[in-house]
Amino acid sequence: MSLNAFITKETVESDEDGPLSGKTIAVKDNISTKGLRTTCGSAMLEDYVPPYDATVVELLKDAGATIVGKANMDEFGMGTTTETSAFGPTKNPVDESRVPGGSSGGSAAAVAAGEADLALGSDTGGSIRCPAAFCGVVGIKPTYGLVSRYGLVAYANSLEQIGPIAPTVEEAAGLLDVIAGPDERDGTTHDEGADSDYASAATGDVDGLTIGVPTELVEGADEGVKEAFWAALDELEAQGAEYHEVSMPSVEKAVAAYYVIAMSEASSNLARFDGVRYGKSGGYEGNWNDAFARAREEGFGPEVKRRILLGTYALSAGYHDKYYAKAQDARAWVKQDFDAAFEDVDVLASPTMPVPPFKLGESLDDPLQMYLADANTVPVNLANLPAISVPAGETDGLPVGLQLIGPKFDEETIIRAASAVE
Ligand code: GLN
Repeated sequence: MSLNAFITKETVESDEDGPLSGKTIAVKDNISTKGLRTTCGSAMLEDYVPPYDATVVELLKDAGATIVGKANMDEFGMGTTTETSAFGPTKNPVDESRVPGGSSGGSAAAVAAGEADLALGSDTGGSIRCPAAFCGVVGIKPTYGLVSRYGLVAYANSLEQIGPIAPTVEEAAGLLDVIAGPDERDGTTHDEGADSDYASAATGDVDGLTIGVPTELVEGADEGVKEAFWAALDELEAQGAEYHEVSMPSVEKAVAAYYVIAMSEASSNLARFDGVRYGKSGGYEGNWNDAFARAREEGFGPEVKRRILLGTYALSAGYHDKYYAKAQDARAWVKQDFDAAFEDVDVLASPTMPVPPFKLGESLDDPLQMYLADANTVPVNLANLPAISVPAGETDGLPVGLQLIGPKFDEETIIRAASAVE
C-alpha cells in the first residue's frame, strides 16, 4: 500500500549539470512549481497550476535536480500530523499505523521510504523538524531570511522558512547550500549564505563545543524520548563537547504566543482565497458575500476554518491589545531568553518532539493536544533562529529526534554538532 507521500506524482527533469545532478527531490506542495499543480493540501487549490517557479525551485533546476512530485502536507501547513490534508493522510514509513508528523509529512516520508533522495519542506512552527524527527531523517529550519520565500504560499510570513529534508546531515547541508542566499524578489532575504558551504561543515568535530539544555524543553517529554535525548548528549560529551542545563522561562509562553501570531497572520494571508481572486469558486449565484462564503465553505477544511476564525478574532478591534499585542510581547521575551542563553553556550539542545509519532487519527479530535506537541519547535520560529533535527535513537522502535538550535546565521555550528550524532 502506498504511503500517500505525494499529492501529485510527476517528474520534471533538469537539463542543467550541477551539484544535484542525478538526485531526485520531492517538493512540498505549498512551493510553487511552474506547470505543476500546487495545492497546499487544500481542496481550495485542487486545480491550481502556478505560472511561475518559486526561487528555490529555479535553484533546484539550475543545480540539476530531478523533481519527482509534490509532497503531501497539512492543509496550508496547519498541523503536526499531515492528517489535515484534503488529499488524505500520509503514513509513517517506519510504522504505517502512525503519522509521519507535519506539516511537511509527505516530504519526510518520501525521503525516509526512499521515494525521493531529498525533499524540500517549509517550517512555520516546526513543520520540517517534526516530520524529520518522526520519520527518522534530518531536517533543517534555516535562519529567517537565509532562504527566499518567493513562491512559497504564505501561512504566517514572519515565522516561516523553506528548508531541506535528507537522509544525512551532509546531504541536508548540501541542499541548503543550493537554496540559501539573497533574492531580490524577497526583501527579507540576506546576503548571508550567498557563497555558503554548509556541506563541508558536517565534520562531526565537536571538541570544545558548549551545549545548553533548556530545562523547560526537556522536563515535559515522554520518558523514552528523554532517555534517547540524554544518551545523544552523552555521545556528544564523549566526543569532547560539554553540556549543562540552562533556564529559559519564557519558552513556556511560546506555544500560546505562536498560535495567536500564526493564526492572525493566516487569517490575513488566506483572505485572498475567495473563489474570485484566488481559489476554486463555489459558483457565482447571489451577491459577492454569498459567493465568497460558498467558496470558503467548500474549499477549506475544519482546521483552516478554525484558524481563520480565531486569527480574525485576535486581530479585531477591542481584542487586538488583549491577544495579538500580548503575543508580540511574549515573542520579544523568547528572543531575549535565546540571546541571553547564547552568551554562554554555542548551541542549545532539546528533543525535537516531546512525544513519539502519534497513531493515525489519535490527535485529530483534540487540536489543543496537537498544538502542545509543538512546544519545542515554535520558540525557534518566534526568535527566527536556525535549528536542525537529527535522528537520535529510538523509543519502542520509533524514531526520536534531537534538536540543535544555533544563533542567527550560524547554521555551520548546528550542522557540525548534528553530524557528530549520526
Ligand atoms: N504545527 C504547527 C502549526 O500547525 C507548525 C506548522 C508549520 O510549521 N507549518 O502551525
